[in-house]
Amino acid sequence: RAKSAGGNRYELADPEADARVITRHGLTTALPAALERGEFFIEYQPLVHLGDGSVHGAEALVRWLHPQHGVLGPDRFIPLAEHTGLIVPLGRWVLEQSVRQARVWRERYGESTAAGPLRINVNLSPCQLTHPGLVQDTVDILERTGVAPDALCLEVTESALIGADDDLLKPLRRLAEMGVDIALDDFGTGYSNLANLRRLPVSVLKLDRSFTQSMQRFPADPVDLKIVEGIVALAHSLDLTVTVEGVETGAQAEQLRILGCDTAQGWYYARPGPPERLHELALVDATG
Ligand code: C2E
Ligand code: MG
Ligand code: MG
Ligand code: MG
Repeated sequence: RAKSAGGNRYELADPEADARVITRHGLTTALPAALERGEFFIEYQPLVHLGDGSVHGAEALVRWLHPQHGVLGPDRFIPLAEHTGLIVPLGRWVLEQSVRQARVWRERYGESTAAGPLRINVNLSPCQLTHPGLVQDTVDILERTGVAPDALCLEVTESALIGADDDLLKPLRRLAEMGVDIALDDFGTGYSNLANLRRLPVSVLKLDRSFTQSMQRFPADPVDLKIVEGIVALAHSLDLTVTVEGVETGAQAEQLRILGCDTAQGWYYARPGPPERLHELALVDATG
């Protein structure tokens, strides 16, 4: 079912068609062995500077090459892994693989790009945030791989931090103090108090794809334009970088650039793919 469409790209299995044959229970019980057997792999999606189109890193996105069902996307199994606790070892594996990949890129292209440090973004689930080993595991991985903390950006969803108390924020603060960037993922979909942003140890806002989608209409909804403009102004006044997700067309990229967004990610630039894909992109040009 997993087609390799053009190059090395995987087509994720169709959730609706597969729902009948793949039961939650079946996937859940198969998860631990899948990690041991090495059935997970990571695709990387380039992070692009909106000003000049240069690449300064990538987001790591995990996939499961299931022996019967083909390639499954994270929406199919991350919730199950969270439910069973497997997310902790799985997340640690993703982090280590991703940091190793960042080292390979840094060895090849240098540590900095035209748009700042060359880095890897890794998603953290709420369960990993509350797991006591998070900070030590991260420190160990960075030390083992010899990668500087500024190569790493950890993405946490806005909803995971809504109402977060100081205990939950403490590990993120420690990581931020070490020089790891923290990004607030899917921003704008939750109900977080904007003033609350000041309290969070984040340095990047990732504007949710729904905003990008509304930029496709021309002219874009004036209210959406105002909202994005307002978020960007607030973010910049707090010294946060604004990244936009899900950019699929040049028109969206242009609109979001005009609105002041800093960096972008989306199919318009590149789909998630194998790490070698980054070599074909503008990374080389960006570092001169
Ligand atoms: P996310 O972190 O918000 O990642 C962005 C999602 O948007 C990815 O879906 C990506 O493939 C997709 N995307 C990128 N560009 C475009 C575009 O132009 N158009 C559209 N329609 N989609 C685009 P994916 O890979 O299915 O991942 C879904 C979610 O799963 C991620 O959302 C993230 O929350 C979670 N996830 C992925 N990898 C991991 C992981 O290693 N650990 C944890 N805890 N969660 C992960
Ligand atoms: Mg993310
Ligand atoms: Mg996101
Ligand atoms: Mg998203």
